Amino acid sequence: MTTTTDKQTLGFQSEVNQLLDLVINSLYSNRDIFLRELISNASDAIEKLRFSALSDETLYEGDAELAITIEFDTTSKTVTVRDNGIGMSRDDVIAHLGTIAKSGTKEFFGALSGDARTDSQLIGQFGVGFYAAFIVADRVTVTSRRAGSSDTAGVRWESSGKGEFTVEEVVLPRRGTEVILHLKDDATEYADAWRLRGLIKKYSDHLSTPIRMLETGEGKTGWETVNSATALWLRNKQELSDDDYKGFYKHIAHDFEDPQAWSHSKVEGKLEYTTLLFVPTRAPFDLYERDAKHGIKLYVQRVFIMDDAEQLLPRYLRFIRGVVDTKDLPLNVSREILQRNKTIDTIRAASVKKILSLLEGLSAEDYAKFWKTFGRVLKEGVIEDHANQERIAKLLRFTSTFQDKSEPSVSLTDYCARMQDGQKAIYFLTAENYATAKNSPHLEVFKTRNIEVLLLTDPVDEWISTHLTTFDEKPLKSILHGKLELPGDVAPADSDEERKPSELVERIAKTLDGKVKAVRESQRLTSSPACLVADEFDMSANLQRILKSAGQEVPPTQRVLEINLNHPLLARLAAETMEDKFAALASVVYEQALLAEGGRLDDPAAFVQRINELLVGAAS
Ligand code: ADP
Repeated sequence: MTTTTDKQTLGFQSEVNQLLDLVINSLYSNRDIFLRELISNASDAIEKLRFSALSDETLYEGDAELAITIEFDTTSKTVTVRDNGIGMSRDDVIAHLGTIAKSGTKEFFGALSGDARTDSQLIGQFGVGFYAAFIVADRVTVTSRRAGSSDTAGVRWESSGKGEFTVEEVVLPRRGTEVILHLKDDATEYADAWRLRGLIKKYSDHLSTPIRMLETGEGKTGWETVNSATALWLRNKQELSDDDYKGFYKHIAHDFEDPQAWSHSKVEGKLEYTTLLFVPTRAPFDLYERDAKHGIKLYVQRVFIMDDAEQLLPRYLRFIRGVVDTKDLPLNVSREILQRNKTIDTIRAASVKKILSLLEGLSAEDYAKFWKTFGRVLKEGVIEDHANQERIAKLLRFTSTFQDKSEPSVSLTDYCARMQDGQKAIYFLTAENYATAKNSPHLEVFKTRNIEVLLLTDPVDEWISTHLTTFDEKPLKSILHGKLELPGDVAPADSDEERKPSELVERIAKTLDGKVKAVRESQRLTSSPACLVADEFDMSANLQRILKSAGQEVPPTQRVLEINLNHPLLARLAAETMEDKFAALASVVYEQALLAEGGRLDDPAAFVQRINELLVGAAS
């Protein structure tokens, strides 16, 4: 190998420095993963070459026997991972081994606590990739040449993982990438045949690419394949142990933790495809980001085609990881083609059903864990996936007035089983948070009559309630809207002609003109003086708040003030003859109702002043 140009020294992007610090300091107890990460990169590089060579065979440069080789040297204390995959150009090396391009990087660093234990868990979710080399090495040398480029286009990269790296151009007859780890003094145990073989078996057995090491034993000099080198998903379920699946999951998801559940199935018929889908235990880093990665890898006839094949699962299942392999797509399939492809539609519909069955089959305890981690995302399915809406609805969990915890555990099925005789609707209330929901005056009549109400406090719940209008043929009804018709209610005797509003109602309506749509006697309240109710088809106050905080224009809608004539405050109001005092008290009744639901006053200072005047008046 000859160097053709001067060495250049470049600095790592600052995130890389941070990541390296973290890798070195917090992954000590997980050191073994360095090999899995490097093998994983080597295997990706080989799959990329195989894919590119479909359209350009010359990329093989006469060597189509794709493999990863692992060597070690006890004298120089090195471990070398080599692949004859796609390789990297000088620009590739600088871009890929000097920066982090992953989405969510900023958020990831923001979430770090500085505590080694929690941070090492976080880093497991983020995936450290190549930088894992520095867990065991104090110097790493990478030489690489892009497939199809000339011998002189080789590059040599070297770094001790401290702020900077060097690059220089070299002549490389062989395409692909070689990573040499100069082991730290306390990591020389890895320069050992049994140690390395053990790690390959444990973490990389299922890779379809052969991983080779020199034969061990007297007089042996040949290469032998250490892993089973058949794609795990194509093997028979019966042959595979839970540990096989777990190991494979960790490889594709870059996760330390075992998956929570998985589904492996082979379909043979008009279409032929295999799916292996995993539900992780932990949420990936970018779960709530717009460009969150979808975790499905697409293979066509065992050839890796693409990562993050977002067409293979709907957005609300973006946390699922796995592999889809089919014979029924062309090898040169592109993302654009996938978008309108019947085969993909069929596989996608079947995969969704598989995952829903998997979730339905979890024990109550496991499902509760799942819901805590992924519930908010699954909820989006109610809106997004009309075909499966009823099934997804059954998987939803809510808090309710029949629970004294804020942990959501009530299903719609539970709710329906507890409905009272004659109860026609599933009642719910939306609010900004659990405390506001639980103490809402709107719940009073429901508490008195012992009717359960679901408490919805996620922003996405507002959208769910507009999309999920019935469950098990029962309407879902917001108790913040319209008039209520509760079980056992007798229609008021004068229902055929609108009851005449009382004088008090009319007086309040006149005073609050412009602030409320109307004033009426409440059936909802037993102990509070008043509450605000939206008209049947108007937006709830909570939804208005959410839209406003997302920067959207919300047309002002007025609501109905419902008053409780049995409350002493209203009796006091009825007895008030001074117009200005009446107006002040009526305003306070309205403003209290607004505050009780977590709303904001237009003029808080004026409210405080009114209250103070009333308090002083009451004291004198
Ligand atoms: P990730 O693999 O998650 O993208 P890494 O830090 O492991 O992150 O690697 C960064 C990039 O460097 C890879 O995406 C790939 O483009 C390149 N790379 C790493 N190892 C190799 C290799 N053995 N052959 C070719 N490219 C590689």
